[in-house]
Amino acid sequence: MKVAVFSTKTYDKEYLDKANADLKHELIYFESALSLKAIKLAEGFDGVCVFVNDQLTVEVVNALSALNIRLIVLRCAGFNNVDIESSARNHITVLRVPAYSPNAVAEHAVALILTLNRKTHKAYNRVREGNFSIERLTGFDISGKTTGVIGTGRIGATFARIMRGFGSKVIAYDLYPNQELIAEGINYLSLEDVFRKSDILSLHCPLTPETYQIISKNTLKFMKKGAMLINTSRGKLVDTEAVIDALKEGRLGYVGIDVYEQEEKLFFKDLSEIIITDDKISRLMTFPNVLVTAHQAYFTDNALIQIGQTTIQNITDFEKGTVNRQNEVTINMIR
Ligand code: NAD
Repeated sequence: MKVAVFSTKTYDKEYLDKANADLKHELIYFESALSLKAIKLAEGFDGVCVFVNDQLTVEVVNALSALNIRLIVLRCAGFNNVDIESSARNHITVLRVPAYSPNAVAEHAVALILTLNRKTHKAYNRVREGNFSIERLTGFDISGKTTGVIGTGRIGATFARIMRGFGSKVIAYDLYPNQELIAEGINYLSLEDVFRKSDILSLHCPLTPETYQIISKNTLKFMKKGAMLINTSRGKLVDTEAVIDALKEGRLGYVGIDVYEQEEKLFFKDLSEIIITDDKISRLMTFPNVLVTAHQAYFTDNALIQIGQTTIQNITDFEKGTVNRQNEVTINMIR
């Protein structure tokens, strides 16, 4: 099949080309994100391959349909950036990589926690400048603290188990509690109780209309003073302004984010010589107790190999008419 690959970085090309070594498919790479402005690039292709910040709105999906695009293949698990209703209406199949490495994302959430807590990023800089003082680098023992997990699917469950390994008490909220985790000693509570009891709160639910700004002024008020908030899921789960206020008040003691509500304008780009006009992220980055990474939680060699292989397999399956239903995003998943 002839597929236009959008938002291409060097690593996307490297891992997709490896998975497509037998050249079964013709992949043409574009650095540009897919948007209405870039739609012309999809002309003459059978499918498009996109990532988290390509915005496949109703208009974009309709325009893809007008270009006879029959397949949208996502190189990620989340599909909140694709208008599924208009894809279904236009008979465009949407395939994704539902599970590549839950460990990659869960371990990155833990990296954010450990860095914020033990301040290794500050120690690294201090020591390199000959400053061997440990003043103000105090952390806390994770053992004995309570970790709250919102969303205990593949990533949330992996994260919960790692935190249990540290000796943390783990509590959780999910629409569908995981019986295996319950058997392992994880308690499911109401959302409000998870907010109230967590010393560390980590988000692992998808972005849906119900979870949009699940972290808001209204829910932050339940949190323990000085609690840590970790978001490796999707930026729009969090009302950034409310988080900034909670940081100013000291209600939130630490914030670690790998995703940001306006990240499509910033992340995956080198803006080091450009004036950043997004005042919310700029303010966030001034806090000494905030750590921002640019959507790299998934970014391990294992995950990239699997994303490449599943993406190519999805294209092959679609071409043969043997779509793997577990990888398909259907209208029922958003209703
Ligand atoms: P998953 O589908 O296995 O699990 C999601 C869990 O969230 C499910 O158990 C589901 O029941 C639960 N859930 C759904 N709606 C909920 C609600 N309203 N309240 C509470 N729980 C709810 O997904 P996963 O593979 O664990 O991935 C989770 C999310 O992580 C993805 O949706 C994606 O947004 C994000 N993600 C981020 C990165 C990254 O690099 N930062 C990489 C992959 C995935």
